[in-house]
Amino acid sequence: MNEPTSFITEFVDLKAQYAALKESIDARIAQVLRHGQFIMGPEVRELEERLAAYTGAKHCVTCASGTEALLIALMALEIKPGDEVITTPFTFVATAEMIALLGAKPVFVDIEPDTCNIDSSRIEPAITSRTRAILPVSLYGQPADMDEINGIAARHGLPVIEDAAQSFGATYKGRKSCNLSTIGCTSFYPSKPLGCYGDGGALFTNDDALAGAMREIRVHGESDRYHHRRIGVGGRMDTLQCAVVLAKLERFEWEIDERIRIGRGYDALLAELAPTLKTVAVRPDRSSVYAQYTIITDARDPLQTALRAQGIPTAIHYPVPLHWQRAYRSYGEGAELSVSQTLAARVISLPMYPDLHEGTQNSIVTAIKSHFAAGAAQ
Ligand SMILES: *Cc1c(COP(=O)(O)O)cnc(C)c1O
Repeated sequence: MNEPTSFITEFVDLKAQYAALKESIDARIAQVLRHGQFIMGPEVRELEERLAAYTGAKHCVTCASGTEALLIALMALEIKPGDEVITTPFTFVATAEMIALLGAKPVFVDIEPDTCNIDSSRIEPAITSRTRAILPVSLYGQPADMDEINGIAARHGLPVIEDAAQSFGATYKGRKSCNLSTIGCTSFYPSKPLGCYGDGGALFTNDDALAGAMREIRVHGESDRYHHRRIGVGGRMDTLQCAVVLAKLERFEWEIDERIRIGRGYDALLAELAPTLKTVAVRPDRSSVYAQYTIITDARDPLQTALRAQGIPTAIHYPVPLHWQRAYRSYGEGAELSVSQTLAARVISLPMYPDLHEGTQNSIVTAIKSHFAAGAAQ
């Protein structure tokens, strides 16, 4: 019997990242404390310029969170009650939540069994006369089939919003996630690939009119000081949080390279366990930044228990597809969503962060292999 060992890793280790960037993060924060412009200070515009340049998008508009980014995007596109927005049920709840909050209907389309992203071949049959937008999610950090989705959208005159909350830094055919469609929305939640120390998010677009609308909606629809030509939200990102992201950009490219190296390392180390355990497929024309490193196995729950006993934290993204959530059940009625249902019972995410040491990764893989070897021997 293996003795339960002490906690060998965290699921996401942000302390190691802070230790590496302490000087710049502290200096950036101190600078904001000195100038005192806590709302819409100079760091906000500086970050927007840096992120627009990074993604290649013409405009970046920071906002209060990834959830707020989705809301502002849908509001800028004037999504209203009775409209339909096509999306995936296999995502974080915010994706469908912001559609429903505006009184529109999230129309769920099933996912691909190997990438867990929306199955683009199922989108066109779901389009009706009420469809107003398509909202794919770049799940686990890998962009969906954006060319196919943009093609369908163009044929039907629809905008495409990429929920890129998990994929900032990923590429698709050489282009950056967040700049792959009409609007890209991302999140700076602390554990996302590019995180701040609280809540934050951003919208990206190449459309001047949409960018203007998004900037207004972010501040209560304000067009000029105390003049409101549309309804908006209190959706600004704090200057302090922008300062943290600016400091984190210093080694972001290195972090992306490490994420990809560690993700591919897991792929290689776990390959021999197929078909008992499968890794999420990454298409050759795109990259994943592995916001989550997720594997697929029928024996998910026993594996999670065994890993926990060895001090290895895991998480399930996501255990209940949205059409099975009480608040969203009515939206999924009659839809064929069996792949999402199957995968919700089989996915499990392993520790993943740029500072994950090779020795730690090897211990995690060894624990997984011995779990399955013990099962096979019984
Ligand atoms: C994290 C996340 C969001 C929400 O971002 P917040 O910044 O937490 O509001 C939306 N969609 C997906 C797919 C996410 O992973």
